[in-house]
Parts: sequence; C-alpha cells; structure tokens
Amino acid sequence: VYETMEAVNPATGETVATYEEHGDKEVEQCLAMAQETFEEWRERPIREREELLANAADVLRENKERYGEIMTKEMGKPISEAVAEVEKCAWACDHYAENAGAYLDSEQHPSPPGTAVSTVHDPLGPILAVMPWNFPFWQVIRFAAPYLTAGNVGLLKHASNVPGCAVALQEVFEKAGYPDGVFQTLLVGSETVDDVLADDRVKAATLTGSGPAGRAVAETAGRHLKKTVLELGGSDPFIVLDDADIDAAVETGVLARTQNGGQSCIAAKRFIVHEAVYDEYVDRLVSAFESLTVGDPMDEKTDVGAQADPDLMAELHDQVQASVGAGATCLTGGEPLDRDGAFYPPTVLADVPEGCPADSEETFGPVAAVYEVPNETEAIEKANDTQYGLGASLWTDDRDRGRRLARQVEAGCVYINEMTKSDPRVPFGGINDAGYGRELSEAGIKEFVNRKTVWTQ
Ligand code: NDP
Repeated sequence: VYETMEAVNPATGETVATYEEHGDKEVEQCLAMAQETFEEWRERPIREREELLANAADVLRENKERYGEIMTKEMGKPISEAVAEVEKCAWACDHYAENAGAYLDSEQHPSPPGTAVSTVHDPLGPILAVMPWNFPFWQVIRFAAPYLTAGNVGLLKHASNVPGCAVALQEVFEKAGYPDGVFQTLLVGSETVDDVLADDRVKAATLTGSGPAGRAVAETAGRHLKKTVLELGGSDPFIVLDDADIDAAVETGVLARTQNGGQSCIAAKRFIVHEAVYDEYVDRLVSAFESLTVGDPMDEKTDVGAQADPDLMAELHDQVQASVGAGATCLTGGEPLDRDGAFYPPTVLADVPEGCPADSEETFGPVAAVYEVPNETEAIEKANDTQYGLGASLWTDDRDRGRRLARQVEAGCVYINEMTKSDPRVPFGGINDAGYGRELSEAGIKEFVNRKTVWTQ
C-alpha cells in the first residue's frame, strides 16, 4: 500500500492533485540509476553538460506560465512572482551554461622546481538535495544548475506540499535532453531522508529549510562523513541610518519584507532605524504596507498572496500574539484575514521587547519588527543580536560608511542600499544558525567537487 502526497491550494483549501509516494523499491531504483548514470555523465566533456543546461533554460522560459501556475496553486505566491521565479531559474541556467567550464578550470600553484602542481575539479557523485516550498523552483535550480554541470547527478527530495513542482522539475531536465538519472525526484517524506543519505552511493547533501531539518541532515551526514551545505533561516536586519535615502529605503523595505508573502530566508525581518528618521520611516512603511493588495494569488495585481500552509500561518500568528502579549505595539495588520484560505496581512510591530518571538525567532510571513536606535553603534549591536547571520541590508548615502559598517555586521552577506537578494553571479549563504557553505557563483559550484591536487615530477 502506497502513501499519498496531497497538494492543497492554500488560497482555497482545495486539493490540487494527489501523488503516490515512492516506496523502498522505487527509491532503490532511483539510487541505482543515479550511480549508473553518474559513471557515464562524469565522463562527458563539460561543454556538453553546459549545452544541456542551456536547453534547460529554454525549457524553463517556454513553460514559465505553466510552471508558475503549478507553484502558485501549490504554495500561494502571486502568479507574477511565480513566473518571475521561473525566469530567474532560466537566468541561473544561462549563467552556469556560460561559466561552469571557466569556474572549474584547473588551477596552477607555485610549485617546487622541476614540478608542476595543479588542482583539478572532479565531481563527487549522486548528491541529495532536500528543498523547501518557499521558492520551489529557484531553490532547486540553484543547486542543480551548478552541481549537475560539474558532473554530479542529483536526487531531489522536495517539500511534501509541493509535489507538482517536484515532478515538473524532473520534466525540465527530461525535456532539455538530459540522460535519465542525472536529475531524479524522489517523492518521499522527510522520514526517508536518513536512509537515502546513509546510502554509500550518495556522496553529499544540500538542504535549504528550517534549523531543525538542517541539524537532522547534518547529524546523519556527519555520522557517514558526507559533506553538506545548509541554507537555513534568517532574521535579517534592515538598517536605515540618518543619512539614508528614505524614499528608496521605504520602497525596497516593503518589497524586502512582503515579497513571496514574506516567506523568504533573506527577507528583511528586523527594521533598525536611526532616531533622526524613525518616525518618518515607520509612518511611511505602515502606509505602504496598508496599500498592498492581499488576495487571490492567481490575480496579476496581487502583491501578497496566500501563506503557503494554514498551520505555518497559525504559527506566525502565534508569534505575533506572543510578541504583542510581551509588550509589542501592532501598528497595522496582526490578524489573519476574515476569509477562506490562509491570508495574513502585512503587519508592523513596534516597541518590540528583547527576546519575544518577533525579536528572536524567524518570522516566516509579512511581519516587520521595527526598532528605534540612537546611533550607528547601537544599530550594529541590534543587527548582531540574533542567532542567525544570513543577510543584512544597510541604508546610507555615504558608501564608505556603509562598507565600514558592513564589516561589523555578523552575516554571510551585506547589501548596501539594496535588499538582500540572490544572484547567480554572487556567492550566497550564511553563518551561525543560518547554516554554512555558499551557493551560486564560482564559490557555489566548487562546494561539491573533489579539488584534486595533481603533482607532476
Ligand atoms: P522544513 O525545514 O521542515 O522543510 C524543508 C525541507 O526539509 C522539506 O523538504 C522537508 O520535508 C525537509 N525536512 C523536514 N524535516 C526533516 C528532517 N528531520 N530530516 C530531513 N528532512 C527534513 O520547513 P517547514 O516547511 O516546516 O517550515 C518551517 C519553518 O522553517 C518556516 O516557518 C521557516 O522559518 C523555515 N524555513 C526556511 C526556509 C528557508 O528558505 N531558509 C524555507 C522553508 C522553511 P517535508 O516537507 O517532507 O517535511
């Protein structure tokens, strides 16, 4: 008897589709196929692998509306953002189709006289990717584009609420002409991850998701001495200094907190604002939040769609209520919309006490915590008052000041006068509880290769 996986539209509560989970036999077949395909795939010239990736970019662009709709129906993001996500995936494929070979060129080293010493980059083998529902295409392409082109093969265990996306992603690679087995979707629950990761054929794992999921995968990987890259949560600061361009900081701040329904690891979560501009900034942030259209994610005009899951929305609301209970002031929002479906309004919390959920936990929804600080020193102190350390955004008209302060922020990346965002050309990743390792760019593709030293006497 097979278990089933149900995709439920969070905007309507209706079942979108039901999928049969893979049992032990199918999982074994996928592992065997991954291993067998890897032996052939690794031998292909990288140019051929780049060409296939360029085909994948074409498939994504040609099907962007259909893939966008699958995402929106499964996890509620606005359709305009879903289609844009598919386009961004195509961009990442283009990027590695053009640059993977150069990134993986052998490196020469200063060598003892009479020798030549270089590093070459060999693939590792089958890589397990445990991925989340929030950017159901992007998170997957972010690992697949570099790692497959480096000569590895991929096994995707996607979040259980986006099985249609998981199936569609395998289709992308099939349509692009990849050999069967280079990219396979395992339709399994999280309880199967341990066994797959323990299997000798699987060489490494990458996970994007919550801290508990990351710790579970890292523990298993540690027992079996397998490398991991972890992209976990964040409670990113968005620091607005006294000399910031307020128009831009409001406009970008709104997007940085509410894009994707606020369900992003790198969303701005804590707005830390200099007292000289605090009142103006917060007034304008609140007005801008109130002007957003929350509703049907299939409507092109919607800014904030449904939250991906009613249970996760209930957790978000608990965080808001507990923060208000601890003394925070709710300036706007703060109650789920009184309608069917999982809809949460853009919410601003001020006077946020230290240690309450909005202050110390990740809020995975459109909830901004705002803080008033008297100077830049306290701004940085507050920014660093978190167990995370993913991204940070810092607003000042003085770019030298921005760069100086950026060095003091405990995070994997700092964006000056821009929101934290991922870009295929730029390394992406965090420190502390936000995880470790880097994705994208040259740094990303080199996470899952054997940097083999070759000494020639
Ligand atoms: P999870 O971390 O539970 O899910 C992410 C992925 O990990 C899914 O594929 C999930 O599978 C899998 N997973 C979960 N537990 C384990 C485990 N013990 N071993 C192996 N794999 C596991 O995220 P949720 O959907 O539950 O969201 C909870 C919170 O996590 C959010 O509110 C947010 O704070 C954070 N989060 C952060 C993301 C980010 O981008 N950094 C993305 C998503 C969530 P399955 O779906 O089958 O459980």
